[in-house]
Amino acid sequence: MSTLLTGIAASAGIAMAKAYRFIEPELTVEKIKVDQPETEVARLDGAVEKSQSELEAIREKAHKELGQEKAAIFDAHLLVLQDPELLGPIKDRIQSENVNAEFALKETADMFITMFEQMDNEYMKERAADIRDVTKRILSHLLGIHIPNPSLIAEEVIIIAEDLTPSDTAQLNPEFVKGFTTDVGGRTSHSAIMARSMEIPAVVGTKEAVASIQNGDFIIVDGLNGEVHINPTPEVVKQYEFKHSAYEAQKAEWAKLVSQPTLTKDGQRVELAANIGTPKDLKGVLDNGGEGIGLYRTEFLYMGRNELPSEEEQFEAYKAVLEGMKGKPVVVRTLDIGGDKELPYLDLPKEMNPFLGYRAIRLCLDEQSIFRTQLRSLLRASVYGNLKIMFPMIATLTEFREAKKMLEEVRQELTAEGVSVSNNIELGIMVEIPSTAVMADVFAKEVDFFSIGTNDLIQYTMAADRMNERVSYLYQPYNPAILRLVKMVVDAAHKEGKWAGMCGEMAGDEIAIPILLGLGLDEFSMSASSILKSRSLISKLTKQEMESLAKEVLLMETNEDVKQTVANAVEKNKK
Ligand code: PEP
Ligand code: MG
Repeated sequence: MSTLLTGIAASAGIAMAKAYRFIEPELTVEKIKVDQPETEVARLDGAVEKSQSELEAIREKAHKELGQEKAAIFDAHLLVLQDPELLGPIKDRIQSENVNAEFALKETADMFITMFEQMDNEYMKERAADIRDVTKRILSHLLGIHIPNPSLIAEEVIIIAEDLTPSDTAQLNPEFVKGFTTDVGGRTSHSAIMARSMEIPAVVGTKEAVASIQNGDFIIVDGLNGEVHINPTPEVVKQYEFKHSAYEAQKAEWAKLVSQPTLTKDGQRVELAANIGTPKDLKGVLDNGGEGIGLYRTEFLYMGRNELPSEEEQFEAYKAVLEGMKGKPVVVRTLDIGGDKELPYLDLPKEMNPFLGYRAIRLCLDEQSIFRTQLRSLLRASVYGNLKIMFPMIATLTEFREAKKMLEEVRQELTAEGVSVSNNIELGIMVEIPSTAVMADVFAKEVDFFSIGTNDLIQYTMAADRMNERVSYLYQPYNPAILRLVKMVVDAAHKEGKWAGMCGEMAGDEIAIPILLGLGLDEFSMSASSILKSRSLISKLTKQEMESLAKEVLLMETNEDVKQTVANAVEKNKK
């Protein structure tokens, strides 16, 4: 029977394929007395063998697709799997207590995990995490329960999940993963943002996808309208084939603008830049005509691994991006870990409100050696292109001054070592906390630029979690409260002769763009896949008319009034 679910359109495009449920199964273990312990030992050996060939295949794939660093995680797992210090005590337990393999495995592994976790030694803590992963794998084979692993998918599928973490999303291979849908999430959760840069159509916040979809169901993900069709009728499939072709034709039309500058109808220039998470995203930026990088989220370099990236590894990544952009501006944001972007190996205490907690610049100013390593690699890379550095989550001027001081100290250190550093690096901040937007006039005297991070600015201003679909109705980019804050920031920058950009998702939103043009925003940074569409929209608008439109909407009362007014004005302006 055909069923329709609705959710939030998170990444544009239409995808059709079979469902692949990515859901962690429950692995429940019972204690069972056995008569023949040797059979249990043999079952354990069989499960270890299966786990070994599975891990070797994953390691091989990770090595090919993600590089040696990422593959090293699986080397560590293989070592655990072959470790007699772990397997020996499990077998002893089976034989001495006459218990089933599952029980002996779980009890023994839990004992080692607790022991290692309590040690005051990072290396041993990492081993605890490895043992946990490996135990899960062996247990799944003993219990005959399949643990899904999206990195091993080798046919076209649509992923169905409760939620996807940013590192889950990073592992998806767009060659096979044609789309995804999740029960929870918002348009600005990081998995949605990543889906846009990977150009994987996605609908999030469908609430019931996991409950309604079985493995193998035929699914259509409509990332344009936020709809998911389960086992659609042949008529619906036909309509979507048509919609898909129309969207592809539209994209081909936009693609003609790839080498054009971004100009309004009356010839005013603005910059359209891209947001990236790794050097691998550069191809998408160049293919989509990005005029710069407005936000390089460096935290992805720190994720999906077991230890901090070295200075050398970071240097290589920053250098690759700077060289790849051939002198065009590259705004690199220093580490913004926290919120939904976790680094398990830092072993930070769990927080009640991670988005309001110990994250980004707060963590960097405290964990100085992490921050200094990043600043060293950035400054070393600065001679390879047009680098601009930006600090995230700045709430007070004191934080900015402290971070700037540290940057200067690192510069002096490098100069003393005889390392060359560019002396033309602009230094800016993300404006994503309301206190900073309100104080923009004061900040503007000390920073070289602002980049407005509306993903967080909206959630903090409206007190509406950006990841929670139940309050997504309050996550209102066009609310005059947000527009007034944006205006304060842009005006403050211009008064001091500085530039103001925006790297939150609002910068690529077709209702927001006309207003932002009218407010005088200088740089719009967005998912690469939104650039050409935005360039096409801007070419149909006149700056002067957008200025009057901005004035009008700033005085409006609600998000909906603004939305309607802009939609009408754009229609009129296009004619
Ligand atoms: C933002 O908050 O708008 C932003 C660009 O940063 P992030 O989405 O990484 O929090
Ligand atoms: Mg942010």
